[in-house]
Amino acid sequence: MSACCSRCGVPAIISKTHRWENGCIVNRASGNANFSIYEAAFHNGLFEELERSMWSFIHRMVYIAGRIAAAGIARNLFSAHPAVQKLMFRTPLYRRTQESLILFARAIGMGKIELIEHRMGKKGAVRVTNPFHLAHCTAVILGGLDVMYGFPAAFTARAEGESYVGELVVGRRDDVASDEAYLRLASEKLLPSATGGKWSLPTCSRCGTPRELGELFRFDLSEGVIEERATGDRHIFYGHQSLNAILREFERELGPEVGDFFLQAEKDNFAAKLASGAVGTGLWDEDVLRGYLAIRGMGFLSRMEDEGGRTLFEVRNVFTPTVMVGRLAALWEHVKGKPSRQAYRTEGNTLRMELTSS
Ligand SMILES: [Zn+2]
Repeated sequence: MSACCSRCGVPAIISKTHRWENGCIVNRASGNANFSIYEAAFHNGLFEELERSMWSFIHRMVYIAGRIAAAGIARNLFSAHPAVQKLMFRTPLYRRTQESLILFARAIGMGKIELIEHRMGKKGAVRVTNPFHLAHCTAVILGGLDVMYGFPAAFTARAEGESYVGELVVGRRDDVASDEAYLRLASEKLLPSATGGKWSLPTCSRCGTPRELGELFRFDLSEGVIEERATGDRHIFYGHQSLNAILREFERELGPEVGDFFLQAEKDNFAAKLASGAVGTGLWDEDVLRGYLAIRGMGFLSRMEDEGGRTLFEVRNVFTPTVMVGRLAALWEHVKGKPSRQAYRTEGNTLRMELTSS
């Protein structure tokens, strides 16, 4: 079987393991809403800003949260059945599993990850070129290793030209295992609820992923890069679990107002993208917006009312509310040409938001 769909260009490993439903990108085996498709520059800009003020804390967070999220995704990617998982990650099958995981990491835009060598429990090394974000990409690799070894494996990294090489430290557990945050941030289930109606995205007749996915994004499996065709912007499949855990941990350390910081960053980033003309104002149409959000796995727009200077949004299956609120607020201001005032609340995973002129 070829690596990418000959009709739409989406990597087969994505369509085999995930489906688009209820506004989410859902793992077929576990039913978890795994990802949103997200601008790498938005992620990196946000984290650069955080790094400036709290370098070691944010790095620790990315390593821990990203790693746990990646381990959860890797463990469940092909089967939700614990006995099957055990088998897949042990000899003699682990090599194939490992190859698939590396292919998957490239398919979701992490960068060019190459396995240099690996002998279970003896030695292991990977080369990573052009990672979308160094710490986060490393965390993803560590998550895979953690599942393979059944405990947090220790790992060292060194630069090698344009790439970096990560090596397994044989037989040693990473001290992250005793970190309080590691124990606390054990995965939350992110199960979307049925959105009821018959609405769905038109699909590719060959692989079944939404047709628009390959029209909007170009997948380069050899380089591990996803590019938005209209803008050239690099994108990643960003784990909800990871952002969720990072935000929870920040709120715990710094208080709930840290959510406003994430929200504002998202709003500024998306406002700049709208201002550049990269995304048309055509988005201000309920059905177009529903499709835009659903294809990116950001949630299911179940209601949009725009009258008398007041706009109401209801979005179901929202797993990163700061992203949704920031994006919708930026869109509102772009369309209306004036600053907004936002009020929002979440109930379960349903976000209700009201926007008015400030
Ligand atoms: Zn296809």
